[in-house]
Amino acid sequence: MEILKVEGVNKSFGGLRALNNVNFKVEEGAVHAIIGPNGAGKSTFLNCMIGRLAPDTGTVMFGDISLTGMKPHEINQVGVSRVFQTPEIFGDLTLLENVMIPYLAKRDGEFALHAFKRVDQDGETRDKAMHMLEDVGLAEKKDVTSESLSRGDKRRLELAMCLSQDPKLLLLDEPTAGMSRADTNNTIDLLKRIGDRGITKVVIEHDMHVVFSLASKISVLAQGAIIAEGKPEDIKGDPRVQEAYLGGAHI
Ligand code: ADP
Ligand code: MG
Repeated sequence: MEILKVEGVNKSFGGLRALNNVNFKVEEGAVHAIIGPNGAGKSTFLNCMIGRLAPDTGTVMFGDISLTGMKPHEINQVGVSRVFQTPEIFGDLTLLENVMIPYLAKRDGEFALHAFKRVDQDGETRDKAMHMLEDVGLAEKKDVTSESLSRGDKRRLELAMCLSQDPKLLLLDEPTAGMSRADTNNTIDLLKRIGDRGITKVVIEHDMHVVFSLASKISVLAQGAIIAEGKPEDIKGDPRVQEAYLGGAHI
């Protein structure tokens, strides 16, 4: 069954056509990667799916819910979570506090920081948040202020925040961008480990090697259009894909 179905999405920035009639389907339970060179339109596409950008034309369906025209927090509340290229965490809060926030957002809609005190006293929320930190291997740092974390740890924290919303669909934009090789491998391992929760994942990557061991299906985006789609082994040898990456030298 399809959990996500995007049809005929176009998006231009002035004279630049960033997305050119994109059609895209994700099967429930899949780990579906979107790869493509820098500037291909990957982040623009993700932003169109999560309501940060309005497509000029086209529709985005999540099951039988139309996400087109919905606000980001509304899309979030129907079960779609996303991890951005730059982690969105509250630097002056501790790890535990950060992970408690999404429970409030999920319960009360758009997050309001002034309501935080109330959550902080909620024992059940605290327990859930603690379990989540254990899951991503950050339990020992629960009382540390999150701005002091390494890039990899910040990404893991953001992932914990997403998972605590119990999403049906998780979208990740270059989850290993800017990470050391060790942090990259840890993050890939973590993404594999969370695979058994029944969360469908869409992973956007420009480094093909990151997704080959993760993805069950790959779509290749180049110059705003999907140019190839298939299993990782098929995509690897596809001459169109190699051509799209020429100059990027990431193959
Ligand atoms: P990717 O994530 O694949 O690297 P992006 O989606 O960020 O690519 O960008 C696709 C193209 O659209 C690029 O040429 C980029 O410069 C342009 N672009 C992205 N966002 C904007 C914007 N807000 N305004 C103008 N141009 C943009
Ligand atoms: Mg991008």
